[in-house]
Amino acid sequence: MSGKADIKLGYTCNNRCIHCVIADQRDRALQLRGSTDRTTQEYVSELLDAKRRGLSDVIFTGGEPTIRKDLLQLMHKARTLGLRVHVQTNGRILAYRAMVEKAAPLQAIWCVALHGPTAAVHDGIVGIPGAFDQTLRGLQNLREFKQHVLGKVVISKLNVPHLAEIVGLLASVGAKHVNLAFPHALGSAREHFDEVVPTYTDLAPELRRAVAAHASAIEISIEAVPPCVLPGHKKHLTEYEFSPRHQPAVHTQLDMETRDWHEARREQKQKGENCQQCRYDAVCEGPWKEYVEHFGAGELVPLTA
Ligand code: SF4
Repeated sequence: MSGKADIKLGYTCNNRCIHCVIADQRDRALQLRGSTDRTTQEYVSELLDAKRRGLSDVIFTGGEPTIRKDLLQLMHKARTLGLRVHVQTNGRILAYRAMVEKAAPLQAIWCVALHGPTAAVHDGIVGIPGAFDQTLRGLQNLREFKQHVLGKVVISKLNVPHLAEIVGLLASVGAKHVNLAFPHALGSAREHFDEVVPTYTDLAPELRRAVAAHASAIEISIEAVPPCVLPGHKKHLTEYEFSPRHQPAVHTQLDMETRDWHEARREQKQKGENCQQCRYDAVCEGPWKEYVEHFGAGELVPLTA
């Protein structure tokens, strides 16, 4: 069987991103368990559970997985169970060449977050001076050891004008794919809503520019942006990947029951009244609820052609 288990290692992180969504879960974990991170043994149990469910892939997420001392041990355990490993990271620790050298034989898929094409933009978003240089060095190390690299960009008002340049930079350091994700206004992103969340109207031309400039060099996927915002860009929108034909995926937060990720995500989306007239109504999830609550659904014009 195929399918992915998205398992949070914890919420500790060495960045302080303005768009970060985890503040609420982190506070909850701290209250419930007095810690924001899973133990090694807890994580091994989650890996065994993923194996029992018949899933093929496990995604190590956080917080920041690479700051854990047991990361290599856990990756090795997953591989011995026959699970393919994905690591979602800000890439800063990967600036240490020895770290990448040790991890390289495990053949993970590295999903590295880059939110700006320059230190000024990226460091401003992640809240850490010097982070851009470290992440870029990490990407270069991954390339040197011939690792499979994907890029992740969380869209925000701060990087909307730079999206095409970020995608171009990721392509130039060997990333095979980039995911451009619309921000979900939870945690810090909710607190800084006006600085973080762009309107779809302002975002659409920049997404079109990024696709036109770089889609021939790197695969581009766009997440949490409904089809009516980008007509003619069907193959780049993850809404289609998330349709009922999708692969199974489970999502395991700390101290919460494991859930079907597609079902949990749909519960957090909201569409407009006119969406019933849209030819994509069955596959489209609509925007995050917080977006519609803030901006309304006026931009969601049904596609009928
Ligand atoms: S269903 Fe609604 S949100 Fe989705 S593409 Fe159609 S109009 Fe847009």
